[in-house]
Amino acid sequence: MAGRFWHWYEQANRVVRFFTGPAQIGAGYVEEPDVRTTDHACPMCGAALSTHTIQRSANQITPTRMICPR
Ligand SMILES: [Zn+2]
Repeated sequence: MAGRFWHWYEQANRVVRFFTGPAQIGAGYVEEPDVRTTDHACPMCGAALSTHTIQRSANQITPTRMICPR
């Protein structure tokens, strides 16, 4: 039973691939190497995020706070 279903599935995929083509891989253009900065700038003050202090609470009621250096 599973063999017949698989055969039907393969035939259905062959028909679909005739119209859609193979699976598209990549972004559709020539991609450059992904260069990322190791230390992002703070969206509020512009300083590096590594210079900031993150206050995380022990409970789930108090929100996490980020303190910008001045
Ligand atoms: Zn900041």
